Amino acid sequence: MTTPGRTNVELPVLTHCPYCALQCGMAITPEAAITPRTDIPANAGGALCQKGWTAGELLTNGERLTGPLLHGRPVAWETALDHVADRLSLIRAEHGPDAVAVFGGGGLTNEKAYQLGKFARVALGTSQIDYNGRFCMSSAAAASMRAFGMDRGMPFPITDLAEADVVLLAGGNVAETMPPFVRHLSGPRLIVVDPRRTATAKLAWLHLQPTPGTDLALALGLLHLAIAENLVDEEYIAARTTGFEEVRTSLASWWPERVERVTGVPVARMRQAVRALAAAQRAIVLTGRGAEQHAKGTDTVTAFINLALALGLPGTPGSGYGCVTGQGNGQGGREHGQKADQLPGYRKIDDPAAREHVAKVWGVQPDDLPGPGRSAYELLDALGTPAGPRALLLFGSNPVVSAPRSAHVTGRLDALDLLVVCDVVMSETAARAEVVFPVTQWAEETGTMTNLEGRVLLRRKAVEPPAGVRSDLEVIRELAARLGHAWPSDPRVVFDELREASAGGLADYAGITYERIEADKGVFWPCPAPGHPGTPRPFLDRFATPDGRARFTPVEHRPAAEEIDADYPVYLTTGRVLAHYQSGAQTRRIGPLAEAVSEPFVELHPDLAEELRIGAGDMVRVRSRRGETRGAARISDAIRRDTVFMPFHWEGANRLTNPALDPTSRMPEFKVCAVKVERVA
Ligand code: SF4
Repeated sequence: MTTPGRTNVELPVLTHCPYCALQCGMAITPEAAITPRTDIPANAGGALCQKGWTAGELLTNGERLTGPLLHGRPVAWETALDHVADRLSLIRAEHGPDAVAVFGGGGLTNEKAYQLGKFARVALGTSQIDYNGRFCMSSAAAASMRAFGMDRGMPFPITDLAEADVVLLAGGNVAETMPPFVRHLSGPRLIVVDPRRTATAKLAWLHLQPTPGTDLALALGLLHLAIAENLVDEEYIAARTTGFEEVRTSLASWWPERVERVTGVPVARMRQAVRALAAAQRAIVLTGRGAEQHAKGTDTVTAFINLALALGLPGTPGSGYGCVTGQGNGQGGREHGQKADQLPGYRKIDDPAAREHVAKVWGVQPDDLPGPGRSAYELLDALGTPAGPRALLLFGSNPVVSAPRSAHVTGRLDALDLLVVCDVVMSETAARAEVVFPVTQWAEETGTMTNLEGRVLLRRKAVEPPAGVRSDLEVIRELAARLGHAWPSDPRVVFDELREASAGGLADYAGITYERIEADKGVFWPCPAPGHPGTPRPFLDRFATPDGRARFTPVEHRPAAEEIDADYPVYLTTGRVLAHYQSGAQTRRIGPLAEAVSEPFVELHPDLAEELRIGAGDMVRVRSRRGETRGAARISDAIRRDTVFMPFHWEGANRLTNPALDPTSRMPEFKVCAVKVERVA
């Protein structure tokens, strides 16, 4: 039985969810009916959230783009492709290769992320490529590289969580962002660090509720207490780490009462947290965007890693540190070359040996490969400026909604000579493009995704795409062909080349094949050879540093890049709601999800609401130094009195956010800025 316009490939097809990094397994029929799989550990016995259950509606959505658009008018594929290739050639000839930029996404398959990086560096010869994952996990990635020499979000299987005695989660609201994850937290005592009493915090054994922007001070205070109470694991520190003495010295002034003054978290609660972690046989420390999306995000994660190392957790069976990656392929998307400073296999683009290896696979000279480019916000900020790119090709991203200081970013997009967007629907960014290519989505194509555990999974094609739609890989192939390169668009062929390019790198996929993924329900990287079993726990014997030891790094707390003052007296923090995903381009178009939360809102404490004479449901204006937006008031004592919360799934919240960047990860400070809140008359 088939749905009109769709071909029955197999009934039902086993695949994975289109949304977050949990990548829940699901089976889908040609009619787009979805049932959960029970054989994938991530979705814990067959759980799906509301987004997963309704994902079939993405395939039949009436707002789907089904033909290329040039200046908003339908044109033939050949016309649109020729137009883009001609314009790119002209702009490159007039202004040089860096006048063309590429922006990717953490939802793209590994094959697409790989091919996009190759397209930028070889076909366009540009250094100007980065992706929206920079806005997501980059601080945790940078801190993990600093400490362990490797960034694999959770360097242990997700099932380890249920076996742990204590889990500390700093800045993550998994009960809303990825609800099946909560099933893995039913066993351990859960400690949640969050300025809001979120759905996750309500499940916690202990909730630490710091002032926004002070997680780093809190982590310093926790380690200070662990040292003061002789709770650190001296044997582990001596055998498996370097640099502890510098960190011990650097913490001397972070006595608990000072930390309480800075963070607002009572000393007794900090002590309770540290003692529970230290007493546990198996303990795990996790960080999420709440701790990471700051101008000091790398140092904040480093401070939590220092705490985990001092307690002897990373690389110890059943214990560890991990980052709860957010975007669907946030992990794989940061491994294979769409990041400004990176080549496939998590290689550094300025490493001569890495350049030589990848250049050989790509059939070019190492010197022909460009060097590192601008990070995501810096790239968007430079668009259309005299020294910046004149053209942008954008795949799987919606920066008009998701970039910090978004009104400014929108202005930069409008200043371009050429904006080309590949998307499934007419996103806010696609609506501003000169050319829009309509592309296939999850169940209409095959490709690999790497979930938050570092497990490489296969998303299989289940239905035929609508007529008139092509895959991102086909768009890249066609543009590359017009620029003189004959490249494949079959995902399996691209994956085989990715395996070769990643061989010997940190994220080594050389031994992973589609067949092995299917047979084993996923393969953990690194997997350097066909017979290799994959590596669920890469740090058991040694870390990926030159001497095999994890590195402590001293870090210092500093205030938020923008603190509250008389003009902007309230903190704003942003985040997600259960019904929506990222910029909402997909989920806002799904009936039940749009009904669940149909518009942006402003959550504020009853005391603040009373002071500002704001009632539940009143329209509220929120202003920052960068712009303003509105939302309906929601009064809740789950938020601190000095803070308001807004979800970022609609255009507006990011008009307010601060693009101050972390010096290492180049992560913008999404999670805290100063705002003024008032009722709209
Ligand atoms: Fe699972 Fe995430 Fe999909 Fe929800 S959105 S079903 S948690 S993968």
